[in-house]
Amino acid sequence: MTNPLYDRLFAPHEGSDRVFLYLPDGAEIAYRDFLARAAAMASALADLGLKPGDRVAVQVEKSPEALMLYAACVRGGFVFLPLNTAYTGAELDYFVTDSGAALTVCDPKDAETLAPIAGKIGGQVLTLDASGGGSLVDRARDVTAIRPVETRAADDLAALLYTSGTTGRSKGAMLLQSNLMSNAQTLVDLWRFTADDVLLHALPVFHTHGLFVATNVILSAGASMVFFPRLDVPALLDHMPRATTLMGVPTFYTRLLADPRLDREVTAGMRLFISGSAPLLEETHRQFEARTGHRILERYGMTETNMNTSNPYEGDRRPGTVGPAMPGIEVKVTDPATGAELPRGEVGMIEVRGPNVFKGYWNMPEKTAEELRADGFFITGDLGTISEDGYVSIVGRGKDLIISGGYNIYPKEVELELDAQPGVLESAVVGVPHPDFGETVLAVLVPEPGATPDTDAIRAALDATLARFKQPRHYIVIDALPRNTMGKVQKAALRETYRDIAR
Ligand code: ATP
Ligand code: MG
Repeated sequence: MTNPLYDRLFAPHEGSDRVFLYLPDGAEIAYRDFLARAAAMASALADLGLKPGDRVAVQVEKSPEALMLYAACVRGGFVFLPLNTAYTGAELDYFVTDSGAALTVCDPKDAETLAPIAGKIGGQVLTLDASGGGSLVDRARDVTAIRPVETRAADDLAALLYTSGTTGRSKGAMLLQSNLMSNAQTLVDLWRFTADDVLLHALPVFHTHGLFVATNVILSAGASMVFFPRLDVPALLDHMPRATTLMGVPTFYTRLLADPRLDREVTAGMRLFISGSAPLLEETHRQFEARTGHRILERYGMTETNMNTSNPYEGDRRPGTVGPAMPGIEVKVTDPATGAELPRGEVGMIEVRGPNVFKGYWNMPEKTAEELRADGFFITGDLGTISEDGYVSIVGRGKDLIISGGYNIYPKEVELELDAQPGVLESAVVGVPHPDFGETVLAVLVPEPGATPDTDAIRAALDATLARFKQPRHYIVIDALPRNTMGKVQKAALRETYRDIAR
């Protein structure tokens, strides 16, 4: 009787006195206690009548108990389905109904909203609050008989993870036990994680980055994490001297850089800083190295595949690239129109294949057929290039490509020029409707603190470096780009806000 994912991530630590979670208030949770409580939770869910394969939708604040619920689902064979805490009303209705969740676990304040939604599909509701209380934990405490680990196969569904919804409606990615196992093992090896590592964990646990990349790597290595409820830069710096690694989105690094305490001394005990989920500016990479001596390692992945490429642990971490394909994973760039592989250096659609690639989208057979080829390659929707020596660079999403007067414009190329202009901190380039050209180029600029970018001078500078059709026709200066919790720039929101600017 086996359960490969449980056996890989959790079973080796049963009974271990080693610390799994350090909490910012000084409390510690040992592996043995964490797993004993997870076992009780799994038994409580089975006592409720849940069967292996049933979906458990979870919309709760980050807490150790939220992670226990993940462990409980793996143990009991339930499909873990975490949801962004920002989702409300109609969005929740969609996720719970679409997934057919047998159980929804939510914050007590949302139980009233969720009860009728879950009720429609015959699902139950339990609660879990930010401090680890609620009916889920009460039931687990009252469990009288701990049930054994449920038998599962490597090709059984482990999780249903909805994509971030950056380019449209979120899609439920069906992740198998084998998908999660292969990626965890590869990342432990690639990034040299051992039981001695202590990870600073300040990411949300409803997204693949904080859940599967961070947590599964730590579990696989038998290491520990300092588990923060959210990003709090002063607290992160307070705990940095006891830690060895950090995984963050680019915003973590820009916020750290804004704190004068970030220096060589506070980072002296750290061996690795990792960034992903959104592009890390080359500027941020350089500033971070100048301040701390550490070269941030950037990697690239997505909900459907976990991680695909990574800059090397040893060797050249190249700013502005996401590194070569990880071992066991194939990455190619293809012509979006024909699907034919393109020569190195040419921009096209990034496709990936490997044991990490998901099984398909839940309830969306057409979408699955469109994006997952019969030969196993997944069409990521991201455009990029591969250099002669295999480094992948992402130039943007296919859906953000601007087509103006029949010409293709890659926003990243224009953004890099804009970012280099005096007074510009960062930028976002989007296509907006234009009566003659179909679309035209809008540049949204964020000034450096205290600066006022001179858009006339910028126009003149770009006139010298970019072909005319790529040059922005409209400029907007705003304080900050709209971003979601994962630090992703919401280009769809920018297009919507400024859709009439060229009409
Ligand atoms: P949706 O698929 O619903 O539109 P999403 O693609 O933002 O949303 P996620 O799966 O959370 O949902 O994000 C994966 C995407 O994030 C990738 O396809 C890529 O566009 C982007 N991404 C991840 N890592 C990086 C990186 N290092 N550099 C640039 N982009 C990245
Ligand atoms: Mg996506």
